[in-house]
Amino acid sequence: MKELCKKWGIKIGIALAVLVVLCILYSIIYRVNSVRDIFSDIQNEEAKLTEYIVYGTHLNLKGTVEIGETEVKDVDIYFRTINEENELIVDTKYEVNEGKISFSTSDLINEGIDLEALKSNTYYAFVRVQMANDKYKYYTIDNETDYKDVEYYTITRNGKNNRVYINFEKYNLEQREIDYMYIGVNYEKAPDNVYDVVIDPGHGGSDTGAQYNGYVEAKLALKYAKAVKEELEDLGLKVMITRDGTEGEEYGTRTVYNKDGRVNIVGASRAKYVFSIHLNSIEKPNSYNGVEIYAPTRCNLSFAKSFADNIVKYAKTNYSTLEVNYEVEDGVYVRTFRENELEESIESAKRKGYEPYDIKDYTPYLYMIREIGGIATGAYVDGRNTGYGKNLYYDSNIGLESYLLEIGYINNEIDLHNILENQDGYIEGIVKTIKDNIYGEDYVPPVKKEDKNTVKQRS
Ligand SMILES: [Zn+2]
Repeated sequence: MKELCKKWGIKIGIALAVLVVLCILYSIIYRVNSVRDIFSDIQNEEAKLTEYIVYGTHLNLKGTVEIGETEVKDVDIYFRTINEENELIVDTKYEVNEGKISFSTSDLINEGIDLEALKSNTYYAFVRVQMANDKYKYYTIDNETDYKDVEYYTITRNGKNNRVYINFEKYNLEQREIDYMYIGVNYEKAPDNVYDVVIDPGHGGSDTGAQYNGYVEAKLALKYAKAVKEELEDLGLKVMITRDGTEGEEYGTRTVYNKDGRVNIVGASRAKYVFSIHLNSIEKPNSYNGVEIYAPTRCNLSFAKSFADNIVKYAKTNYSTLEVNYEVEDGVYVRTFRENELEESIESAKRKGYEPYDIKDYTPYLYMIREIGGIATGAYVDGRNTGYGKNLYYDSNIGLESYLLEIGYINNEIDLHNILENQDGYIEGIVKTIKDNIYGEDYVPPVKKEDKNTVKQRS
């Protein structure tokens, strides 16, 4: 009986092994055929990718397609998948000039392709051109930029992440070598050194920030930042804080571009967002009050607007009374270099003996918005001014979406009183904004271990 069992056991084992091998072979052949299918109706010419940027949670593509005499009805980016599930069509802006299409997924850097929304799959990218007769032409995308593959981890949601990799490869199709772009997405926990968001308490060390009646901006900002960090971690976010109060006197305005300075540690965090917390001040005490949210240029401002709205609502304060031409909505400010600041920057470079920085008309004035965004925001601290360190990520095509919150004026009696007495209200407004914009309003945070224990003890 024993012998018989053994014999049959071996037979079943062999049968299973053969089955597994057949399955693997089948899947390889099937896949090869499918990739071939994916490229079956492409054009001879490829689309040229001239710019690609990951800013915050979005991928933005720009490029050109030679189409000759063809009359164009519409252009979009079409992501095909082998199993035809989750295929994706992304609207593009485009114009046609002398037989050439110039396309762009968005003019705004925080829009385009939402990397957070992609489901697990492999997405083959095509520029799809709809012609006058309603037929389509498909072009694979050849990378003409200096930037190579990008690896991105989605924001932690209930302890889980997706790994998103943007890749450029070659494929041999009937003796023809084609360049193509694809995006691979799979479930994979983000490494420990990859964060979701960064909280940046302004100033620190020898840099106290503003002061009034014995109150110090750097200290109050830190107190707020720590409270925000704790609340965000309760939502399940991985949060980095740029300083924790243990920094010494050597920490200050001249160390932000050091290797371990706030610009470079934020750049290395691979987070998607950074929120800086500050208190405002003005020469004449009590002349202004209220909330100012500073946002990047060329952005959809809905995130910034909800910060302003929620802080006003939950902290029972008001939009800032500061009226300037860079106030774009109630409480939302987009500050670029002014004419005189540009001239001063050039003068200062000449005095110190280095080439002036390449500042563009959209360059944000605040360094925590500009330098953290890489090429998307025109970061420029490349080390040419030897008096400072260098932003190691100034020419990166991966940037963090950055907002600077001036929660109120330290030298306004009403604001200061509210900031000292009503911290919970401000924190609630800030945290609700981050939760709603990152996770959506319906998100239910995971239950904490301590909470489970507490429930147990009580019952
Ligand atoms: Zn400040």
